[in-house]
Amino acid sequence: MSGGMNFELTEDQELIRKSVAELVKKFDDQYWMEKDRAHEFPVEFYNAIAEGGWLGMTIPEEYGGHGLGITEATILLEEVARSGGGMNAASSIHLSIFGMHPVVVHGSDELKARTLPRIASGDLHVCFGVTEPGAGLDTSRISTFAKRDGDHYVVNGRKVWISKALESEKILLLTRTERYDDVKKKTDGMTLFLTDLDRSCVDIRPIAKMGRNAVTSNELFIDNLRIPVEDRVGEEGKGFSYLLDGLNPERMLIASEALGIGRVALEKAVKYANEREVFGRPIGMNQGIQFPLADALAHLDAAELVLRKATWLYDQGNQCGREANTAKYLCAEAGFAAADRALQTHGGMGYSEEYHVARYFREARLMRIAPISQEMILNYLGSHTLGMPRSY
Ligand SMILES: Cc1cc2nc3c(=O)[nH]c(=O)nc-3n(C[C@H](O)[C@H](O)[C@H](O)COP(=O)(O)OP(=O)(O)OC[C@H]3O[C@@H](n4cnc5c(N)ncnc54)[C@H](O)[C@@H]3O)c2cc1C
Repeated sequence: MSGGMNFELTEDQELIRKSVAELVKKFDDQYWMEKDRAHEFPVEFYNAIAEGGWLGMTIPEEYGGHGLGITEATILLEEVARSGGGMNAASSIHLSIFGMHPVVVHGSDELKARTLPRIASGDLHVCFGVTEPGAGLDTSRISTFAKRDGDHYVVNGRKVWISKALESEKILLLTRTERYDDVKKKTDGMTLFLTDLDRSCVDIRPIAKMGRNAVTSNELFIDNLRIPVEDRVGEEGKGFSYLLDGLNPERMLIASEALGIGRVALEKAVKYANEREVFGRPIGMNQGIQFPLADALAHLDAAELVLRKATWLYDQGNQCGREANTAKYLCAEAGFAAADRALQTHGGMGYSEEYHVARYFREARLMRIAPISQEMILNYLGSHTLGMPRSY
């Protein structure tokens, strides 16, 4: 790009924002409240997004997608979250949007042809299986093991927190094919598969959780799951490095979702602050109410700028680790702070479900923990960017 700095989205990007905003308007807060309350997957919403052609946004054109970048994907997910759908809406489509990146880059043509067009059309639901109870954020410590047996692998182990597993036909599954103790580099010896979540050998149990209840997160007990070799993504033993390629975009996507929740929470707060009268005047006239909302706006705007820089760098093919991590960190903080202030602005009504800010608050809290905690982001910035000793 020439001509120095440019903070404007392109016409096409603006059009994406407008079209998505128009589409998601059909699913209002009431819809999301009911889905959340009933613990029901938002099928109507998912189908509408699929029919609009949005699920294949970043999937290459030869596999039925539009081949767009992370900038466009973050615009989509910000609008989705901002509609009031929050993390219920975002999580129902999140993995279809950029989660298949390791498959796009490293999967065989045959695997891609078999799966990507179905993901783009919405027909194939996928989940992402990395986290394990015994490993936590130290992914090198996973122990779910895939043992080669002729033209198959036989997998045994346990996963935790796998979102949408209950609703998914396939899973992008990280396993060990060599034990931790047998590898030179601790992240070697891991293998990635995109395979059927065969219910006859995988027991899937939803975890009772604080929010985002329209999409399940599950414990998986995997008992002799047979995976054909064709379902392996790339080479054996290199699965972790393939996942690394997807980490920065994942952080940016999450950042955009946090931003969207922050924006909708702030809108709701401003509306209420202008309407609600106590002591004979709108509560928003009090600086004790107004300043925190103005402060929330300033933090959201600043966080958004870092996110835009990160997505721009990535789409230009540049290094963006520092910016992607910072964007995730700041958007998660700003989104949560805005949701918290929105709740406070609503007083007692903030604590009710009726005004929706309680739901935003619960969902905004999540992005400080998952898919990567704020502490690990700071670990990255401290060691990679600032050059201080690693603590992990
Ligand atoms: C609703 C929800 C949905 C999820 N969906 C998925 C999914 O679809 N697929 C999937 O694979 N996973 C999923 N996860 C898991 C999520 O990615 C993890 O919960 C997250 O990465 C944190 O890991 P942990 O829970 O094991 O925390 P732990 O590793 O047990 O860490 C606990 C705490 O200690 C801190 N900590 C640990 N080590 C350090 C250190 N060295 N320095 C500083 N602080 C440290 C952490 O930051 C954290 O605050 C989901 C989680 C939730 C809550």
